[in-house]
Amino acid sequence: MPFIGTQQKCKACEKTVYPVELLSADGVPYHKSFFKCSHCKGTLKLGTYSSIKGVLYCKPRFEQLFKETGNFNKNFQSRKSFSLAG
Ligand SMILES: [Zn+2]
Ligand SMILES: [Zn+2]
Repeated sequence: MPFIGTQQKCKACEKTVYPVELLSADGVPYHKSFFKCSHCKGTLKLGTYSSIKGVLYCKPRFEQLFKETGNFNKNFQSRKSFSLAG
């Protein structure tokens, strides 16, 4: 049985996240340095972010993109490739 331990993979870059740099959002592990808005690249904090299917947004952007327009799916599809950036 392979030893997995407490190591977790960053959702953003898919590399191991060590506890010192771990930031867990809704149970999903991220590097703190990768915990950014996928739209404006602004650094996020717990309590100031919104995530949709693992894609992170700052709250102002989230509300602008989705709540006002109601085009949740349409906008989301155009953002699929965000994880390849950087
Ligand atoms: Zn990462
Ligand atoms: Zn943003």
